[in-house]
Amino acid sequence: MADAKKLQVNRQKEKTPMPELDPTIRSQTFDEVSQGYSAEEAVNEALRCIHCPNKPCVSGCPVGVPISDFIREVGEGNFGRAYAVVKETNTLPAICGRVCPQENQCEGVCTRGKNGEPVGIGRLERFVADWAFANPEQAAAALEEYRSGSECATGHDLSGKRVAVVGSGPASLTCAGELAKCHAEVTVFEALHRVGGVLTYGIPEFRLPKDLVAKEVSAIADLGVSFEVNALVGKLYDIDELMGEMGFDAVFVGTGAGLPSYLGIEGEGLNGSMVASELLTRVNLMKAYKFPEYATPVYAGKKCVVVGGGNVAMDAARTARRLGAEVTIVYRRGKEEMPARAEEIHHAEQEGIAFQMLTNPVRVLGNEEGWVSGLECVRMELGEPDASGRRRPMEIAGSNFVIDIDMLVIAVGSKSNPLIADTTPGLETTPRHLIVADDETCMTSIPGVFAGGDAVIGAATVILAMGAGKRAAKGIAEYLSAV
Ligand code: FAD
Ligand code: SF4
Repeated sequence: MADAKKLQVNRQKEKTPMPELDPTIRSQTFDEVSQGYSAEEAVNEALRCIHCPNKPCVSGCPVGVPISDFIREVGEGNFGRAYAVVKETNTLPAICGRVCPQENQCEGVCTRGKNGEPVGIGRLERFVADWAFANPEQAAAALEEYRSGSECATGHDLSGKRVAVVGSGPASLTCAGELAKCHAEVTVFEALHRVGGVLTYGIPEFRLPKDLVAKEVSAIADLGVSFEVNALVGKLYDIDELMGEMGFDAVFVGTGAGLPSYLGIEGEGLNGSMVASELLTRVNLMKAYKFPEYATPVYAGKKCVVVGGGNVAMDAARTARRLGAEVTIVYRRGKEEMPARAEEIHHAEQEGIAFQMLTNPVRVLGNEEGWVSGLECVRMELGEPDASGRRRPMEIAGSNFVIDIDMLVIAVGSKSNPLIADTTPGLETTPRHLIVADDETCMTSIPGVFAGGDAVIGAATVILAMGAGKRAAKGIAEYLSAV
């Protein structure tokens, strides 16, 4: 590795800008918004890293990517080696580079952020992953050269062991990949007809192109993992059967938190009102935006309100915008309290989406044909912090008003589906149907059954799900080596 002192630091205070599609053009297409760095832009950005001795960015990364090391390689133009360094700890870099909330993780603690903008770590991670897709032979050679010995990170040879993985989101994909690298025979059972979990059915094409998710999945299949789609565990088979007559030695449950929450207000069931997961699944998984080329219709109104302040709300709003609606986001707290990524809020604003902050819906109004026609809302103010540490929103009495709408999208959170818990005797769950699993090993109350990702911690992030998948693989390997 090159001597850190030889690197010349780029003193530029701002991140090297990443080219983006023009907002007026992109709000009419599902093409990817952010276009990625060129090699020159990537090197320029990489040279902003000062390679601090304590590397706070690495401890800010939930899977511990050796950030300073890969950035150094980018700075020196060694893109293959940079890819190999990232890939060693992160199985899905093209995805993480695009969707991780870096501002709260590695970039949130980057030393360069104390005087200017942090290093664009996510942008650089995306660059190296995209470079590898564009240069597969060089990338494979770099991986081969970088790895010393076995790819297996659990330290156990699992030859002859069979593991069933339920669900195919980032937690499951990571767990499956890590186990396959240790020679386990892994089968993934996915309820939907496509693999990838939220990466495939939830996050829109304009943020995360689906051909890219398919490439990451096929890299995991290349490790020897088999995928069985249209396989709803809990209906088609249950966990006891997987562990019993189907002969698996261990099971990982990564079923996510895909059950939508509702507002619980009058009129929510009117025509033209839907939960975000319905809109996003129709558009992303079923390609409704290409109707009639794809046979899935989708309702698109002219005046749409999206209720919620998270990533799901931003994705739903930007999707409805692309389907031709004028969109307003209604959120009961202020913009600073919105849980969505800052970049997504910024992109939504650029695309002409309006924001009604400190506003809460109280009733959905309908017309004679049973379609939504208005959303009655009340203004809110922020009181003292609640248990979450955020200031509690409180209604301002008598401040009710109506927004004219013909489409309503509800994006106020999601819960874990109780199916697995209901069909697995002895599986301990919380009152919110989250599966109880050990933090380190991810083992549940049933020996040999492991769980991780949103199914355990509730709706969270891709990288946290991946971190759990990795810990579970280690837990499973240790369990299988001991029995
Ligand atoms: P999931 O990705 O939910 O995958 C679970 C899989 O299990 C699904 O495919 C499901 O069909 C399958 N399944 C469920 N039950 C069964 C069963 N009984 N049998 C078989 N299969 C089953 N996070 C970020 O970090 N950045 C973002 O920008 C971001 N944006 C998001 C946008 C949207 C619209 C949504 C919904 C979420 C977003 N998230 C984001 C959150 C992130 O996607 C999730 O935290 C992450 O995908 C959780 O991974 P997982 O593997 O636990 O589960
Ligand atoms: Fe580079 Fe920022 Fe990490 Fe320091 S904290 S090593 S400047 S990326």
